Formats: sequence, structure tokens, C-alpha cells
Amino acid sequence: ADYIVGLTGGIGSGKTTVANLFAELGIALVDADVVARDVVSKNSTGLKAITRRFGTKILLADGNLDRSALRERIFNSDKDRLWLNDLLHPLIRQNMLQQCKEVQSNYVIMVVPLLFENGLDRLVHRTLLVDIPPELQQQRTIARDAVSAKQVQNIIGSQATRADKLSKADDVIDNQGEISALKCKVNALHTLYLHLSSEA
Ligand code: ATP
Repeated sequence: ADYIVGLTGGIGSGKTTVANLFAELGIALVDADVVARDVVSKNSTGLKAITRRFGTKILLADGNLDRSALRERIFNSDKDRLWLNDLLHPLIRQNMLQQCKEVQSNYVIMVVPLLFENGLDRLVHRTLLVDIPPELQQQRTIARDAVSAKQVQNIIGSQATRADKLSKADDVIDNQGEISALKCKVNALHTLYLHLSSEA
């Protein structure tokens, strides 16, 4: 596909739910979280670079990345954290664009939780925000994961504000209602994206 829609939204907003509705319409998905894991998978270029810098103690016995060891390293060193970002961001970017290009689909949905925060909105043709108020983000995330209100609050606080995202997005899906109401909204956007991608 050569028309990319960047789908974003804060924690618990409903990105995955919305993305799956597009997939049901036959639209291909590229998931930034999956790509972020792929680029440091066993024997990957990314993991080799990490091992070169931090030594084999950053690996688990089976050769996979020890994520908690890496988290600790970058938590304790800004220099290491910046180094890691400089390594991973271009790899993730390249890998996502490659996948978007390769998939057979009228357009492709790139699901990126931190689309605006990481400047990935510049890589896509259109941005779609799934929006709910922070109280509901907290409620739905707690219902889904074993996390505290405080933990969700901290994550919300680390992400761009609702107002900021609303001002930047081309399209917005209000997901305060029932899941059943989403289908209609997704269908309407699908029609729009088919049109926009055919004109591009
Ligand atoms: P994260 O970024 O945290 O992974 P997400 O944006 O992908 O989250 P989802 O996992 O799709 O969000 O939705 C969060 C939770 O809220 C899920 O348990 C989902 O089933 C539920 N949910 C999504 N939309 C609605 C809705 N309209 N009404 C009720 N529950 C919903």
C-alpha cells in the first residue's frame, strides 16, 4: 500500500479495538509495538548492537533480550537511554515503512500509540485519533489490566495531552459510547480513506 493512516490514542482509548474493525474490512495493519519487539528479536541487528554496547549480561540464557535488565540500564543512565533511542527509532521507522509498502491493501493502518509524541505523524498521510476522557481511560485500563489507578495516571501523564492530540489529528473517533457504535464510525472513515487513497 502507498497510502498510510496513522492510528493513535492514549492508553486504554480503544486503538486495538478500532484497528480490528478496519482489519475486518480487509485493511492491513502494521503495529508499532510488534515492530518494536521485532527489531530487538533474537539474532537481529538491533539486538547485536545492544549486546555490543552492554555485553552478554543484557541477554537471557536463551539468547533473547533481558528487557528488565535493559530497562534498568536506561533508567539509570540518560546517555544509555539516548543511545538506545538513536539506535531503535530509525530501525522501527524503516521496518514499519517497509511493511506498509509491502502489504496488499487499498491503504494501510499503522497503529502507533505515541504517533505525535515520537513525530511519526510526519511519515503518514492521514492521522486518526481514538479519543476518550482520562477518567474513562483509567476505568477501562484497570478493567483490562492488573494495574493501579496511579500507574495508569502516570502513563497518561507521560503521553501527549488530550487537547494536544485533538488539535493535531485529521480525524477523531469518539469512543465514549458502546463498542457497537464504533462499527458505523469505522465504516464511514473507511469510505473516506478509500477515496483519499485512490486520489493520492
Ligand atoms: P493500549 O494502548 O493500552 O494497549 P488500546 O488503545 O489498544 O490500549 P483497547 O485495548 O482497544 O485500547 O481498549 C482498552 C479496553 O477497553 C479493552 O479492554 C477494550 O475491550 C475496552 N473497550 C474499548 N472500546 C470500548 C467501548 N467503546 N466500550 C467499552 N469498552 C471498550
